[in-house]
Amino acid sequence: MDDMTMRRCIERKRSGEELPAKLWEDIIAGYVSGIVDDAQMAAMAMACNWRGLSVEEAAAMTRAMVASGETLSYPGDITVVDKHSSGGVSDIISLIAVPIVAACGVRVAKLSGRALGHTGGTIDKLETIPGFNVALAMDAFVRQVETVGCAIAAQTDAFVPADKRLYKLRDRTGTVPNLGLIASSIVSKKIAGGAHAFVFDVKCGEAAFMTKPHDAIELAEALVNISQQFGRRARAIVSDMNEPLGRSIGTGLEIIEAREFLRGEVQIPRVKTLCLQIADAMLTLAGVENGADEASRALHSGTAYEKFCEMIEAQDGSVAGFEAMQRSPHIMVMKAEQTGYVQEIDTVALGNAARALSAQDSASGLRVTVHEGDAITIGHPLVEVFGVNPDLNPIRAAFRVGEAAPPVRPLVYATV
Ligand code: URA
Repeated sequence: MDDMTMRRCIERKRSGEELPAKLWEDIIAGYVSGIVDDAQMAAMAMACNWRGLSVEEAAAMTRAMVASGETLSYPGDITVVDKHSSGGVSDIISLIAVPIVAACGVRVAKLSGRALGHTGGTIDKLETIPGFNVALAMDAFVRQVETVGCAIAAQTDAFVPADKRLYKLRDRTGTVPNLGLIASSIVSKKIAGGAHAFVFDVKCGEAAFMTKPHDAIELAEALVNISQQFGRRARAIVSDMNEPLGRSIGTGLEIIEAREFLRGEVQIPRVKTLCLQIADAMLTLAGVENGADEASRALHSGTAYEKFCEMIEAQDGSVAGFEAMQRSPHIMVMKAEQTGYVQEIDTVALGNAARALSAQDSASGLRVTVHEGDAITIGHPLVEVFGVNPDLNPIRAAFRVGEAAPPVRPLVYATV
């Protein structure tokens, strides 16, 4: 790959051509080695966003991304599963489903990403736990999966470096929401992580990278299809992301909410339903019968919470520090200015506002106190804002209250 060839590839993609696998290998290898620079790769990512990628192109890109770094493997006699979300707001499923599945005796190896666009990143959230080390060396990661039963860590430089660079570039250049780029980014990390089976939580709605059920189902099918091309078992669940999944938005606040949820101190029905469904799918792929019952037992008995604490300790985190984590004391409550139904919650605006707040202080962010469809009266609390000098205008504008009840939406649109 040289400068001219890359330019020609960008032009071909810009005019909607499907590029052969060999070119994708060369493009990705060139990007990792520095022959292809960020400017050319950003132009290519934009061309992909505009013209799309076929599943064959996404699979070729996945293969090239996996080959860009090291891959992990586990002893033949253990089954390791993994889950991945395509990106949501107040999405604490990984923080809950991973310890649930591990508490049921199935090992989970999860390599996670950072915040992308308005969506939160599991790694940023875990880093708010005092001492928690997300930068595990690969051998330590594998050892922890074997001994503790679960580990969640960030990609190191040795691990899918192509995705690491491209992920950051896409975040900066507004080129995230393309099916092929998302599929190759996600599946390459899953394959390199070495698990035998994957469950994908594909978000669908105004605050997801895929806004329409049809597109989200297409992404779900591509994720499962590409995973199977690598000999892995896979399932995908297409779930709603038109409103925050849980209540809290913000790195530290989501960790606190996960702690409260795992300890049974708060009930969040949407989180519980989705989380048990995902845990069930992970357990089923690992050959466990009655996965739903096992998952529910692990959650309610507290063994999932104990497993989460065990993981914190294994990754040098302080359980005492985790248990002492508090929301910022600077709090204001935003209230409804009219009576009616909550018709819409602009979850992208809330995700962006919370990302800005928790970037200043991880104990800052938002806690949404209504759901779409709730009937409320004037003065009803809509959202609690934690933090110093928040920009309240976009947060206030995020809630639309009107006379008519909005249509009821399913939490899960499809399973693949
Ligand atoms: N999650 C990923 O890992 N990559 C994407 O491109 C989007 C969500």
